Amino acid sequence: MKRLLILFLLIGTACTPAQMNEASAPPSIPASDPAPTHIPLVQDVPATSASSPMPSADIFSELGAPTCAGLTPENTEGPYYTPDTTERKSLLEEGWQGDKLILIGYVLDSNCQPIPGAWLDFWQADANGEYDNSGYNLRGHQFTDEQGRYTLETIMPGLYSSRPIRHIHVKIRVPGGEVVTTQLYFPEQPIDGLTVQLEDKGDYHLGIFNFVVR
Ligand code: FE
Repeated sequence: MKRLLILFLLIGTACTPAQMNEASAPPSIPASDPAPTHIPLVQDVPATSASSPMPSADIFSELGAPTCAGLTPENTEGPYYTPDTTERKSLLEEGWQGDKLILIGYVLDSNCQPIPGAWLDFWQADANGEYDNSGYNLRGHQFTDEQGRYTLETIMPGLYSSRPIRHIHVKIRVPGGEVVTTQLYFPEQPIDGLTVQLEDKGDYHLGIFNFVVR
């Protein structure tokens, strides 16, 4: 009998931990909760630290709703256009010199509606007023986004002796349209219908210009 009692006691104590383990199994489910919460944390790190040197996405908060003031006048192409440029929104290359300019705006139709996918090809002089006529420095094309907006990171163009007025050349073509060639100017020497609205933001100049094309 004594042996049987001891046996029952042994079985009893052996079962208790097993039952406790089963009972404690549910808490092991919440124990897995921290894993999913860690995943977004890991994903958050690169997202917040991947800030571009160009204030790209937020820069459009400066733009507001499209405004139109008639068709953008055409302006002479000049002698320094080079076709087949690289697609890029920043013309800044390693070792660039000058005052940084970020130019933003819409490409709009004559009803002031934004045009997505419009092609813009920019070219300009460097800070010393010189064009790169053998390469593609300070040259590049891009397309407007779904909301008809463009953004160009570049420098303020320098003056050159044969044309002492600061300007940026641009060609625009809306889908299915013809190429429009013009130039943008600055408030120091404004030209009707082609003058960029300019603001000094400290470490860069912000220029705003909306193109209105047929
Ligand atoms: Fe020029």
